[in-house]
Order: sequence, then structure tokens, then C-alpha cells
Amino acid sequence: MKKSLLVFKFGGASVKDADAISNVVAILERYSTQNILLVVSAMGKTTNNLEHAFEAFMEKDVEAFKIRVEIIKKYHLNILNNLFYKDKGALLREEIESIFNQVETYYNQDILKPRAQLYDGFISFGELLSSKILQFKINADLKISKWLDVRKQILTDTLYQKANVNWPKTITSIREICIPELEKHTILVTQGFIAGNESGETTTLGREGSDYTAGIFAHALESDSVTIWKDVPGMLNADPKFFENTIKLDRISFREAIELSYYGASVIHPKTLKPLQNKKIPLLVKSFADPSAPGTIIDVDTSNDHMVPSFIFKKNQVLFSITPKDFSFLIEANLSDIFSKLSAAKAEINIMQNSALSFSFLIDHNANKIKSILNVLSSHYEVKYNTNLELVTVRHYDKKTNEFVCKNKKILLQQSTRKTARFVLSED
Ligand code: ASP
Ligand code: MG
Repeated sequence: MKKSLLVFKFGGASVKDADAISNVVAILERYSTQNILLVVSAMGKTTNNLEHAFEAFMEKDVEAFKIRVEIIKKYHLNILNNLFYKDKGALLREEIESIFNQVETYYNQDILKPRAQLYDGFISFGELLSSKILQFKINADLKISKWLDVRKQILTDTLYQKANVNWPKTITSIREICIPELEKHTILVTQGFIAGNESGETTTLGREGSDYTAGIFAHALESDSVTIWKDVPGMLNADPKFFENTIKLDRISFREAIELSYYGASVIHPKTLKPLQNKKIPLLVKSFADPSAPGTIIDVDTSNDHMVPSFIFKKNQVLFSITPKDFSFLIEANLSDIFSKLSAAKAEINIMQNSALSFSFLIDHNANKIKSILNVLSSHYEVKYNTNLELVTVRHYDKKTNEFVCKNKKILLQQSTRKTARFVLSED
């Protein structure tokens, strides 16, 4: 019988120390009769720490740069030492040292290159390190894996930091590289988040982009499923940070998951679902602490979507209200003027509404954006804004859910469709 092919994604928390990495290997053992394409993120908070080192590099603060790199290096070497007794890790240690050699000498890079390009080149070390260490451990214990460089497989344009995937080329190169390797090795280990372009430069898919990487591989290889291993039991109906009694969603449709992530649910990177939905490849969200638990299944079945109401909270919102100075009605001509000005100011609108004379819209708080919005609008419009607000979205709402989220709050704006109610709220 042909083995099934599973795509697994392990995020930073699942490989944050030696014990966590051993737990990943234990999970893989449970699936030993199947082929696995494994995508891994940088360990723990490494991407954030690399960003700090990168800032020092851009400010030409060599001292700060060295100190920050040293912290990252110690962290990785410590994990390596905890995983392998001296000689056993010698080959890996050499490889890790040589990657750190590139990290440490990054300040020789041409600082005149575009910042975003330098950023991608530097930030990618996190995934290169984690994938090397994890693959070495898998091979030491299970002897059946191979490390692959994702930058030769996922090919993008040159929009650094948020690169767009060239799908036809990516599908071809993933198939060419992975299919023969999967015949020879049970597990292939590669990097999430990073990619490459045609001139051989490293690019990235945007922060938290490793889920998307898993979706790309699954699509190209037409895998049987994708599993995102997380530190929560599955997709929950609200962020446990804001909510005490969260409920796990056992099964929802692609459509529902796309809606939830559009409104701001942060469990899965929003770009992940489309390549899976197109090929009807189910996505599982499972707990790495409890791998036998079923987690959440996301697939084509819509029959359970309405079962549990979901709550999505966005804090620190700013509500603008604008009125044409000449008191003209807000008809299409005015609206298109407003939209082109807002798009010039790069405003990302979370919700909007209009009346005869006023147009309101909500954005995440960002001092620079507020300034640019005032700049583009103030000549023709009376502009007012309110800060410190909260946007709450309730999917599959009823009277009770709405009373619950609005309790002791003042409603500044509200909208509802058949399935979704949204409220812009301030403390009373
Ligand atoms: N390591 C990257 C980040 O922290 C990508 C990811 O974790 O998905 O953004
Ligand atoms: Mg991460």
C-alpha cells in the first residue's frame, strides 16, 4: 500500500528547548509508517531576538549587535549541548558554528542594499538553525530523515518581507525536489517562513508565515493532510487571553476558518487556508502536549459551523469620523476620493460605515498612520477621532452573546449580517 503523505508544521514554542525537541521526535514516532514533510519555525523567540540584532546592525551599533547575537548563539548551543553528548553532536556543532559565523559577519554586508532585503537575509538564520538542529536530532534517533533548503523550492518575487509566491515555479520545483527524496527518506525537514527568488536571494513570507509554508507544500505535493502542532488543544472560540471559558471548535469548514482569520482570529496564518481549500486537503490543529487528542479539523464540511459562537477581540482601535467641509452628501464621488486618500495613507480599515454626511472607519492604533490620515483628509473634511476602543466580532451570534460582549460598554458603532455581529465599544 502506498504510504500517505502528511505535512506537519511545528512552531517556535514546540522547539523552544531540548525537551520540546525530544517531544517532537516522540510525536514523529507515532507516525512512523507514513511519509512526513516537516516545516519548522525558528526556536522559541529567536525571530524577535534576530530582529533586535538586526536593528543594531542597521544603526551600525556593532557592540549591541555582537551582544545580541551572542545571546542567540548561547541559546542554540545550549539546546544542542542538552540534546547530544559531546562527540555525538560534533558534526552538527560545526554546522551551527558556521551558520553563526555568517550571522556574526553580517555587518560586512552592503548596508546600501534595501533594508527589507537585508532583513530577510538576516532573519532567515533562525529557521536555518532550528531546521538543522531538529533534523540532526530526528536522524540521530530515527535515522530516516533528510534536511532540505526551502529557498530552492518556494520561489517568490522580490517583495522582501512579504514576498509573493510564484505558484507554477514553486509547484514544479517542490515536486522535482521532494518526490524523489520522499521515496528514499521517511521524513523531510525544511524551513517555514523563508523562501528564495530567482536571483538566489533569501525572501520571507511575512511574520508568522510558517503555517503558509506548510499550506504551500501540501498544495504542491497534494498531501493527505496538514497538521499544525500548537500549544493549545485546537482552534478555540476565543483567545484565552481575553476569555475565561473558551470552547474548542471540533470541526469547521475552510470557509468558516477563513472568515475567522479575516476578522482577526490568530490561530492560523490567514494565507494558509486557500491553497488547502483549492485541493480539499484537510487541516488539523493539534496540541503537541497531547498528540492523541483529536484537536480541530478544518475541511469542506460546513455542517458544524454554526454550533459554537466565536468571539474575536481587537483592542487599541481608533475610530475616525469625517464630514465634508462643504456639507456635500457622501455620494460615490466623495467616497472614491476618501478611499483613494486612505489608500495613499496606507490605512488598513477594520470596519466602516456611512450616513448622509459622515463616514466612519476604524483602524489599529498607530501614531504614524493617524498622522498621515489627518494629513490627507484635513483639507477637505472635518476629521474627528476617538482612541482606546475595542472591536468585537461575534460569529454565529444571538441575543445572549451580544448582551454579553456589550455589557457595561458604550456602543459607538454596530453592524450585523446573518452570521456576524460586530461592535465598536468604549468603556462606559
Ligand atoms: N519564525 C517566524 C516568526 O516568528 C515565522 C513563524 O514562526 O511562523 O514570525
Ligand atoms: Mg513563530
